Amino acid sequence: MKIINNDIFVNNLGLIPVIIPIRTIRKGNRKIAVIVGMHGEETSGLLVINKVIQKLSNKTNCEVNFILAANTLSQTMRTRVSPTDLFDLNRVFPGNMGGEISQRIAAKLLEFCLEMDLVIDLHTFDGQCPVVGIFMNSGNNSVKEDCLKSLSSMGVDCIWQLNFNSSDEVKMSGALGPILCDKGVHSIAIEMPGHEIITNTQVDLITNGIVNIINNVPIKAKNTPIISKINIRADFSGIFNSKIKVMSRVKKGQNIGNLIRMDDFKKISIMSPEDGLLVVNKNNHFVFTGEILASIGTKAH
Ligand SMILES: [Zn+2]
Repeated sequence: MKIINNDIFVNNLGLIPVIIPIRTIRKGNRKIAVIVGMHGEETSGLLVINKVIQKLSNKTNCEVNFILAANTLSQTMRTRVSPTDLFDLNRVFPGNMGGEISQRIAAKLLEFCLEMDLVIDLHTFDGQCPVVGIFMNSGNNSVKEDCLKSLSSMGVDCIWQLNFNSSDEVKMSGALGPILCDKGVHSIAIEMPGHEIITNTQVDLITNGIVNIINNVPIKAKNTPIISKINIRADFSGIFNSKIKVMSRVKKGQNIGNLIRMDDFKKISIMSPEDGLLVVNKNNHFVFTGEILASIGTKAH
């Protein structure tokens, strides 16, 4: 199977050319993009892409574009934001070809993705988590239906439905996925654990889901829970301890872990604000004031 180098040149930064590195398998008319590295420190998606490429056969009848790093600048620094303009690339879409370098990368990437039939954007959560599919909850009903069908046929553990009315998620209106859906391009995203803790089973689950979508294998959609995500944030800096496994059901008011305050090493109990599923657990993290220490998934409406 021939892999073509299909890089997009964005511009120079000083004397360094800024590109969007793309490897393409060109077969057939249907076009799919799989994106990694929208956030530079998130590299688990590369484990998935490697396995997807191994599994694709000559029978694959679809053009697949693997975007190996949407933001090469932040990947070089292993940071979430671009090192020169400090933008989070996934908050500046639709971008601006006359703007700062991150805005120009966004504009070029959007232009490329608008030619696709489907875009799959791979991300990681900080902390322990299941495989979470993101439903953009944007676009017309047919786009929404297609996105939900793809997510549930991928076999993800749960589907996080974006809620632009939530103060935590209003900023997602500048993410690539919702803008693509609004423009009629079927777009989903996957959140997975970071490379230090992701399991082979999780990598295989995402790989098989993507390969089946690429090969257009009809898969019966599963009855996957669709959630709204409620973030529990630290009211002071401390070490978070929690023994609860992700995807466990928790009750409103239940202790989900303890935060050890750094001022006096006092242990403060952290309670779940709602009944739901524990979907992010930052056990053993040194959490700063205002940072997420856990997230609960409640039934989405
Ligand atoms: Zn991300």
